Amino acid sequence: PRRIVVVGASLAGVRAVETARRLGHRGPLTLIGAEEHLPYDRPPLSKEFIGGSVVTGPPHLMDQRQLIDGLGVTVRLGAAATALDVDQQVVEVDDMPVAYDALLIATGAQARTLPGTEGLGGVHTLRTLDDAAAIRAALDTGARTVVIGAGFIGSEVASAARRRGLPVTIVEAQATPLVRAVGEQAGRALAALHVRHGTDLRCGVGVAGLVGHERVEGVALTDGTVLPADLVVVGIGAAPVTAWLESSTLALDDGVVCDETLAAAPGVWAAGDVARWHHPDLGVALRLEHWTNAGDQASHAARNMLEPANATGYRHVPYFWSDWYRQRIQFAGLPDGHPQIVHGDWESDAFTALFRQGDRLTGALTLNRRGDIMKYRALISRGGSWDEARELAARRNAMTR
Ligand code: FAD
Repeated sequence: PRRIVVVGASLAGVRAVETARRLGHRGPLTLIGAEEHLPYDRPPLSKEFIGGSVVTGPPHLMDQRQLIDGLGVTVRLGAAATALDVDQQVVEVDDMPVAYDALLIATGAQARTLPGTEGLGGVHTLRTLDDAAAIRAALDTGARTVVIGAGFIGSEVASAARRRGLPVTIVEAQATPLVRAVGEQAGRALAALHVRHGTDLRCGVGVAGLVGHERVEGVALTDGTVLPADLVVVGIGAAPVTAWLESSTLALDDGVVCDETLAAAPGVWAAGDVARWHHPDLGVALRLEHWTNAGDQASHAARNMLEPANATGYRHVPYFWSDWYRQRIQFAGLPDGHPQIVHGDWESDAFTALFRQGDRLTGALTLNRRGDIMKYRALISRGGSWDEARELAARRNAMTR
């Protein structure tokens, strides 16, 4: 392709332009981003950026010099793509056509909001740098915080508030948090971290509504309780950003539907939180919202884009981490069936739990066992058996006893 256009200037977009140049693309390379900011990294936003005692600047992925002078990328910030014509090979950006020979869609995901809370002061989601700055400012004033949703982001926000010594309550509709992400037993074990660190975790109760006129004053629960609040952070998940593609001919199904090679249509590729691709080994369509996937997938898509005739399948073993109360949670693979503890126990400060399907290792969850996770991930990637996983566990235990 001569002209490469990347829509979405975050992790996936930046990795794609980097990879394209590294692999020798010399033609025009354009990066289009809806936000005004230079590309930045999201994981620190719910961790150091809002919870740290030292005020940190935006966690930029690249500065202007690296991006524009170094890589020779034409960067358009504060500019949103509004439509795509696959046949004509044109993206509309602020109603101006931008022609491409190859396009990467990397528009990520946006936070789901609680209906009816728009415009109420003190109520935030956490997806962008601007969201994080508003939450940090509220925590600076000692806000009493209620987090709606005990997912990873909500849990990290609660942890950040506790780190600053502030009272925080999490309201979770499910009886156990994170069941879909890590399974029932592990969800319970992780929920216990909140309780141990002084977060008031209320599960199995819904939000009836928010109290307050211009600013939020409290959260009314379905059991009749009203929790006083100066800051409410809504952490109820994210949705892929595909509204701008609805008038195109691309297949959309909770994300941009791609084949094994991450192609969505001739000349069109997708990567990151927005992409749902057919996993060549697992035989299912997956859309991940993980940092490691966004970067790896974008590099893979860029490589395929440069040489479409030799495009290869994207065989990725999912991996993510999350930090709560200075504890490191890591997960690799998929949470199938009942996990088995192979190090520590569910109540201990450090444990490793493995998931199996038949005689295969399918997933691994660790708490504060940083050396373990990539070993299990590599085993899953090789299609390792359950017996091999048990042997690996025995070796790891002998080393770290
Ligand atoms: P995004 O980062 O969502 O970026 C998409 C970009 O596209 C955005 O800047 C958006 O403004 C832009 N855009 C959207 N529509 C348009 C348009 N029409 N035109 C132009 N631009 C557009 N993952 C982990 O594994 N571990 C963690 O600890 C972790 N922590 C996280 C903490 C927070 C607070 C958040 C929000 C996410 C976290 N993640 C974590 C997930 C990780 O950050 C994401 O998987 C990653 O950011 C996805 O990158 P992306 O480039 O695909 O999409």
